Amino acid sequence: MERRTRAVLAAAATLLLIVGSAGCTGDTGGPVDGAPGAAGLRDPYFPKLGNGGYDVRHYDLRLDYDPADGRLDATAEITARATQDLSAFNLDLAGLTVGRATVDGAPAAVNRAGGELTLRPREEIGKGKVFRTTVTYSGVPRKITDADGAGEGWLRTKDGALALGEPVGSTAWFPGNHHPSDKATYDITLTVPAGLRAVSNGTLRSERTAGGRTTAVWHSAEPMASYLATVAIGRYETRTATTPSGVAVHTAVDPTVAADSSALLDRIPEILEWQQENFGPYPFSSTGAIVEAAGDVGYALETQTRPVFPQDAFDAPTLVHELAHQWYGNSVSPATWRDMWLNESFATYAEWLYAEDFEDTPAQRRFEKAFADEANWAFPPAEPPTAENLFDPPVYQRGAMVLHKIRQTVGDDTFYEILAGWPAKHRHGNASTEDFTAYVEDVAGEDLGDVWDVWLYGDGKPERPQ
Ligand code: ZN
Repeated sequence: MERRTRAVLAAAATLLLIVGSAGCTGDTGGPVDGAPGAAGLRDPYFPKLGNGGYDVRHYDLRLDYDPADGRLDATAEITARATQDLSAFNLDLAGLTVGRATVDGAPAAVNRAGGELTLRPREEIGKGKVFRTTVTYSGVPRKITDADGAGEGWLRTKDGALALGEPVGSTAWFPGNHHPSDKATYDITLTVPAGLRAVSNGTLRSERTAGGRTTAVWHSAEPMASYLATVAIGRYETRTATTPSGVAVHTAVDPTVAADSSALLDRIPEILEWQQENFGPYPFSSTGAIVEAAGDVGYALETQTRPVFPQDAFDAPTLVHELAHQWYGNSVSPATWRDMWLNESFATYAEWLYAEDFEDTPAQRRFEKAFADEANWAFPPAEPPTAENLFDPPVYQRGAMVLHKIRQTVGDDTFYEILAGWPAKHRHGNASTEDFTAYVEDVAGEDLGDVWDVWLYGDGKPERPQ
């Protein structure tokens, strides 16, 4: 072929490539033969939670809230990548009223059934395409009562509201792919009456008051499972500091409990430094805490970068526990809710290590105490019988006993290697129980089948602790 012809052909091919990919970032370019994305991800405890057919990259949530009438007016802009050719796809949303939805700027048909919001875009979405969905919605967001009786979702407080999401509460305040396996980055913009503060995850980009309303913009640069997203609106006293290793610390405290909380809040940098020595580098660019008056919330939660505490549970072990979750649970998130013990075992064991390093109580003592408590033997930690049992003592205490048995088996050097190596291996990802047992055996270079059989999966209590 003559040189000129070849050059013309090459230019034509380039042009075809450009035309073929115009407007559809990452599109594989083939003909689109779409099917609806699955309505759930078949989680063993919450089969309808999450949705198939796409992977969310980023949520841009803009929420306008008025505590006087409890009404939320919001827009969610969701950037996602199609993992199949899609004719329609679902988002999870409980309650509220959906106004308008668009996909890549064009109106999409909206259908709702139970907790499922189905959007049918005007044009099918090709596999691999990155697409942008916007949903406007409003109403009074609901509180969700879990199978175990705990309250989550959107909780109204004396002076505002608090959003908590474990395991399904985030469905009450924004449409999304609410399974922990689909993590994404977030921008959360909150507008509230002037005089109130609006706190969320990550770093504070800006806070401005105009026309009697304050708008705060929060940015989570690292991926987050939706159950860890939070919003706290109220008359908080807020403070900003920096840890010795350069992590931003944002704290928000209900003024009625500020005096009682300040000494422990001041210890966050020190505790975080101790945890970094044991667990490896802190995985996020900010940290902090939200402390509520007792009664406004019933339990502490490891919301990403900014755990929430009721004042009566704001003590050193609980602070250590919720901060430890930032590595175990938040950076390495469960593949499904069956892997929940991986969150709670490490967070509980962090308390045992704190007692060992700061209070002269060997972890062995905590292990023996846990062994003696019959409540910890109701079921194996890797197999809670129902959703009602996800937060029961075996998940926390017997989970921590599994870690202690690993430590006894492999020795301290290898155990500490596992403590830091596990969150390093799955940083900002997801992992299952099977990933964990394989990892431990790999690092230890030995079979721990007996530990798994008896302590992790076994029914009932072994005869002796060791
Ligand atoms: Zn926990």
